[in-house]
Amino acid sequence: MPEGHTIHRLAARHARLFAGRRVHAASPQGRFAEGAARLDGTVLQGTEAYGKHLLHHHAGELTLHVHLGLYGKVTDGAGAPPPPVGQVRLRLTSEGSAAAPGDAHWLDLRGPTACELLTPPEVAALRARLGPDPLRADADPQRAYARIRRSPTPLAALLLDQSVVAGTGLIFVTEALFRAGLAPTLPGRDLTPAGWRDLWADLVALMTLAVERGRIDTVRDAHLPAAMGRAARVDRHGGEVYVYRRPGAPCHVCGTDVSRGELAGRNLYWCATCQARS
Ligand SMILES: [Zn+2]
Repeated sequence: MPEGHTIHRLAARHARLFAGRRVHAASPQGRFAEGAARLDGTVLQGTEAYGKHLLHHHAGELTLHVHLGLYGKVTDGAGAPPPPVGQVRLRLTSEGSAAAPGDAHWLDLRGPTACELLTPPEVAALRARLGPDPLRADADPQRAYARIRRSPTPLAALLLDQSVVAGTGLIFVTEALFRAGLAPTLPGRDLTPAGWRDLWADLVALMTLAVERGRIDTVRDAHLPAAMGRAARVDRHGGEVYVYRRPGAPCHVCGTDVSRGELAGRNLYWCATCQARS
């Protein structure tokens, strides 16, 4: 599932391509025909990401809410759209402006978990059920800590719970815990205020870098392939990481084999030596 940085990148990109424009909306697949009809011809005023949720705010207090889930994909392009291929839930197109007639774009959404229109109270309810998002300037990390500090639940499970922190997925959580030297099984209530302050700051830094680069890099300079004389990581997601999906491989810091375990149905990775604080 895409983590929050991907959704923030999409929101910024869609704002660049469509904000301030009148858009045409259609549902070639038919499953969002009614919603698309209501969006059709409205001006996209702005976009927003909140955790893993993408919001397009249209004139007339209409908000398009998209959650990609495991299989959702968004593609876009310039000019006239190609014939729809596959199950296109929503297609948005903009015409070029009078000043820039060639500046037309299209966007296709396939396979999302959520594609729906929300009223302003429904948008407020969505925000209220999500924890603070490290990528948002309005995030209040103390709201998350209020949950964490009184919970016996393992820290990794709390950080993956979108109602505690929004936008963090398995890669950011496993890597931030490694960098902090915290065991994923540490009960939330054992995390000190200073520990939370540092962990939040690291999530903000890692996720901000991921927005800039379009991939997740978590390895400090001293542990990069060139610095260590090791081969670069080969993985679909790209960036250099410490423990995520490296079970049995030597820890870049101490050489211990990286561990793998399951927590709440998710695979977790950690170094039993570097993350002994529990
Ligand atoms: Zn280690």
